[in-house]
Amino acid sequence: MSQAQSAGQSHLGSTSPLPHPAKDQVYVRVSALNGGFLTLPERNFVTDPDPDKATTVPSMCFLIEHPRQDASTPTRLVFDLGIKRDLTKYKQPATQHHITTRQPVYSTADVKSSLLNGGLDPSKDIDYVILSHIHWDHIGLPSDYPEAKFIVGSGTLYILENGAPCYPLERIERGSLPEHQVVELPPVPDSDRKHMAAAAQSDHQWQPLSVLPHAVDFFGDGSLWIVDAPGHIHGHVNALLRVAADKWVYLGGDCCHDRRILTGEKGILEYDNGHGTLKSSHAELSKARATIKNVQKLIETNGEAVEWVVAHDWKWCSGNQHRFFPNYMY
Ligand SMILES: [Zn+2]
Repeated sequence: MSQAQSAGQSHLGSTSPLPHPAKDQVYVRVSALNGGFLTLPERNFVTDPDPDKATTVPSMCFLIEHPRQDASTPTRLVFDLGIKRDLTKYKQPATQHHITTRQPVYSTADVKSSLLNGGLDPSKDIDYVILSHIHWDHIGLPSDYPEAKFIVGSGTLYILENGAPCYPLERIERGSLPEHQVVELPPVPDSDRKHMAAAAQSDHQWQPLSVLPHAVDFFGDGSLWIVDAPGHIHGHVNALLRVAADKWVYLGGDCCHDRRILTGEKGILEYDNGHGTLKSSHAELSKARATIKNVQKLIETNGEAVEWVVAHDWKWCSGNQHRFFPNYMY
């Protein structure tokens, strides 16, 4: 069974396929990047877990290249920065403790070294960093990218200051984003979190795309869409890349931590937090479930046209090593 066929088995009917290419349609190139590895115990993530099973998974990141008119080099974006190669750079004791629960962690081969290996200098060749969210295993070392603008979902700067449900202040690596380089997307029109939005926002507009209720056309030419993907933590975003006339790549970040949730083989686990209440790997479980349904619907509606990958998909990672930078996926 192909990846697209196996996904979205819930038969969520829909009639809005992704658009046909425009005249002079622009496409992006995409390449996978190493963002380090961490170990996830099944008992925190998927329904019917094997209580003793833990899997060492990647925290994958992606290089996206958008052709620039009248220039020999493309605009380069990195989606997520993975794990900090120097784990002592996580300043919060609570983060350090959390990392002990995710061992083994491997961080020496990181995004910076992946880019350098392919001949790119992160200190000057990267124009944008899009962060799916600011969890420790996605935020990397922003100081490696002094020339880049950091694009983040609405509410990200707020939670960096104030914490969030399931991500208390003691786990927040305050000051880890260079604020003068950060551009926050506006809240979606029907957001219940408008009070968390940054005072200054990008002028992007949210619009529906295929079955997705809220997406931003980042370059205005339909080649790179940032997708609102709420539930995991405030400001969580995904990306949908147009790589060919009939091919798209969906970067799912942490919309789920195990590919079997998107294929419908597993569900998101709720487990006892040790104090008699249930928790999950997502701050807002009902929104996280709705996001999963949206992604399943996108895959079901568009079939083979959409290849999808989530940050911690060890199976995709091990089967697609030939598509890591300096090689390209598309
Ligand atoms: Zn996360």
